[in-house]
Amino acid sequence: MKPSVYIGIDLGGTSIKMGLVDQLGNILYTLESPTPVKAGYHQVLAVFSQMAEKLFQNNKYEWKDIIGVGAGVPAFLDQQKGIVIEAVNLSWNHVPLKEDLERMWKVPIMVDNDANAAALGEMWNGAGKGASHLICLTLGTGIGGGVIINGDIYHGANGSAGEVGHMTVRHQGGRSCNCGRKGCLETEASATAIVLDALEQVKGVSSGPLKEEYDKTGTITAKSVVQLAQQGDFLSIEIITKVGRILGSTLAQMCYLLNPEVIVIGGGVALAGKVLFDPLIQAFNNAILPRVAENTSIIPAKLGNRAGLTGAAWLIHRKNIGSREAKGS
Ligand SMILES: [Zn+2]
Repeated sequence: MKPSVYIGIDLGGTSIKMGLVDQLGNILYTLESPTPVKAGYHQVLAVFSQMAEKLFQNNKYEWKDIIGVGAGVPAFLDQQKGIVIEAVNLSWNHVPLKEDLERMWKVPIMVDNDANAAALGEMWNGAGKGASHLICLTLGTGIGGGVIINGDIYHGANGSAGEVGHMTVRHQGGRSCNCGRKGCLETEASATAIVLDALEQVKGVSSGPLKEEYDKTGTITAKSVVQLAQQGDFLSIEIITKVGRILGSTLAQMCYLLNPEVIVIGGGVALAGKVLFDPLIQAFNNAILPRVAENTSIIPAKLGNRAGLTGAAWLIHRKNIGSREAKGS
C-alpha cells in the first residue's frame, strides 16, 4: 500500500503547478500547465481536474491515497471560508474555490494566497526549516510577503497581514504604484523597480553592457541587471545595491514589530546573491538595535518556484495533524 500523500497546487497568472507532496514536505512529482486565464474560472477548475487525473495515471495513486488538497492563489481571499475575493490577474471576483473543489474532488481542501503559501513552504522544508517565527519576502514583478508567528501564518483582521509590498518606503519622490499611492516597497525594490531604475540610468551613459542591451532590444530586463551585477558591471551593481539598501532598512522596521528568527528572501531578484545581500544586511544592521536582531538571520530562499506548491500542501498537512506539529522540524 502506498503511504497517504497531499496534493499541492500553485496557481499563477501564467501557469498552474500541481504536485504530490509527502508528509515530510518533499515533492514527489509535479506537473505544469498553462493557466487558461481568458477562458475563466470554470475552465481553470477543468484544467485542475485534468491535471489531477494525469497525476494519478503517472503515479498509480488514487483519490483514496490523498489526504487533501491545498491551493495557493494570487488573490485577496477569505482563507477560512475559502472564497477568493479578488484575483486581479485571473479576473476572479468572489468565487467559492474551496467549496467548488470539495464538491469536485470530495477530499478536504485548504486555500491561501500565494505569498503565504511560499512562506509556509520555506518554513516546512526550505530555508526556514524548523523556525517558528519567520518573515518571507518574494521579490518578483511585485513584492509578496508572508508572516509566520508561532509556526503558522498570521492573517490579521481580514487576511491582509503580510502585504508588505505596499509599505511606504519613500515618502517623497517615490514612483506611482498600481495601488494608487506613491513610494511603495514594490515600486522601489521589485524586479519592476530594477527595470525602471535601469532604463533611467542608461539615459545618462553612452556605453556599457546595459546600454548595449537597451540599444539592441529597446528595453532591459531585471534578470539581465542581476546577471550583469554578478559579473561586475558597475551600473548594474549600483542599481542592485540601491534595492538592497531599501530592503535592508525596511526589514529592520519589520523586525522591531515581529522579532523573527529568520527572514527568507526569495523570487528572481534574490538570485543576485551577494551583490544584493551585502548592501541589504549592511543597511539592516545600520537600522536595527543589535539586541533586537541578535537571533535573526536573513537568508535566501531555498525552494525557488517549488515553495508555493510545498506550502499549499502544508495547508492541508496542518489541518491533518495540527499546526504545532506541522511546522518544519
Ligand atoms: Zn502600492
